[in-house]
Amino acid sequence: MDQASLPDDLKRALDYHGHLCPGLMIGWRAARAASQALALKPSQDEELVTVAENDSCSVDAFQALLSTTFGKGNLKWLDNGKQVFTVIDRKANRAVRVSFIGDRKKHRRPDGSTDREAFMQDLLNAPQEELFEVREVAPQPPREAQIEPSVLCQRCGEPTQRGKMVEKGGRLLCRPCAAEPAS
Ligand SMILES: [Zn+2]
Ligand SMILES: [Zn+2]
Repeated sequence: MDQASLPDDLKRALDYHGHLCPGLMIGWRAARAASQALALKPSQDEELVTVAENDSCSVDAFQALLSTTFGKGNLKWLDNGKQVFTVIDRKANRAVRVSFIGDRKKHRRPDGSTDREAFMQDLLNAPQEELFEVREVAPQPPREAQIEPSVLCQRCGEPTQRGKMVEKGGRLLCRPCAAEPAS
């Protein structure tokens, strides 16, 4: 695929992500679909929240293009293993759910592998309705991140958010330490 001729917003996502792949392209089209459905303006970053139901390449397009990022806390991850994204516009109190329905099987080779190039061409050019189901949903912004003091783990000694710690054997431990066999 000729990267020089890609649309500008896809190039921005590519700069951020580092390589061009079907996953990034799914995210790019999904972010576009959400932006259109919510009539978002580029400056609207701060009011947006993305809930991503997977942790694959596609999520980077939402970080690059909608500026909903893990670090800012306006990117939430649900470990559902689905190419589904819900974008919430807090200011307008609207939300849209974008679900990928594009058929990877169309590009299956006889040996069972996927014809990546053909799949990416499809992601580049196919009409939106062939790739995504887009519907407005009731906005349910995830809870704001709690700022809470850190407490030292009584095993490794690292400062850890109190609410993420586990009591085990009478000690207050961070999750990785709590998962270790007793010492
Ligand atoms: Zn990728
Ligand atoms: Zn620890």
